Parts: sequence; C-alpha cells; structure tokens
Amino acid sequence: MSAMVNEKTVTCIICPAGCRIRVSMQGGEIASIKGNLCKRGENYAKDEVTHPTRVLTTTVRLEDGRLLPVKTARPIPKALLFDAVKELSNVVVKVPVKIGQVVYSNVAGTGVDVVATRSWK
Ligand code: SF4
Repeated sequence: MSAMVNEKTVTCIICPAGCRIRVSMQGGEIASIKGNLCKRGENYAKDEVTHPTRVLTTTVRLEDGRLLPVKTARPIPKALLFDAVKELSNVVVKVPVKIGQVVYSNVAGTGVDVVATRSWK
C-alpha cells in the first residue's frame, strides 16, 4: 500500500514576490517543493511545514496598570504561542522601560526573550 500524498500551499514571506509554494508530503516526509523562485523560499516552506514559528507581538502589564507593547526577540514555535500569551498575562513590569529592554526571559520554555517595543517613563 502506498503512503498518502498530500499537498500544502505556503505563501513565502521572505521577499515581496510572495511566491505560492506547493509542498507535497508523502508519509510525513517532504516529497517535493515547487513554485519557489529561489532557495530561500524552499527553506522557508520546509520550516513552515515541519516546525512553523512566529514572532509573538502582545502586551504586558506595567506596575502602574498601563500596557506595554512587547514582542519575542526571535520567532517561537507556533504551537507555543498560546502558552506564551498565557504566561505573559501574569507578568508585571517596572517603569521606566526602554525600547528593546528584555522584560521576560525564556518564554514558554523556548529560551527566547520578550522585549519592549516602546519606551515608557
Ligand atoms: S521564494 Fe524566493 S523569490 Fe519567492 S517570495 Fe520567497 S524569497 Fe522571494
């Protein structure tokens, strides 16, 4: 019996060309990648299909009650985004805060820092 083939379509976000890349999967393995104009797209599609990641942008509370916009310093696994948001809902940050300052480390056990995306006095 042959393994099932299924195709996933990924839109490459690496450059403005926005290639629509078709990834064929067979028995959980990548069988072919088509539609990308360059190698970077192939790598992006591979990652997107096997372990998709995203930069999380959200807010955390400041000690005075205001909300501070933050983001993860690097993309984290898409599957952990919800856990990360939940964890950050308990975080309270001291003022003042500088843009780029690490306000939380190792979010959802990813080893990735969360940084402020604006300054607050
Ligand atoms: S595959 Fe290459 S050319 Fe196409 S969107 Fe991705 S980076 Fe740009």
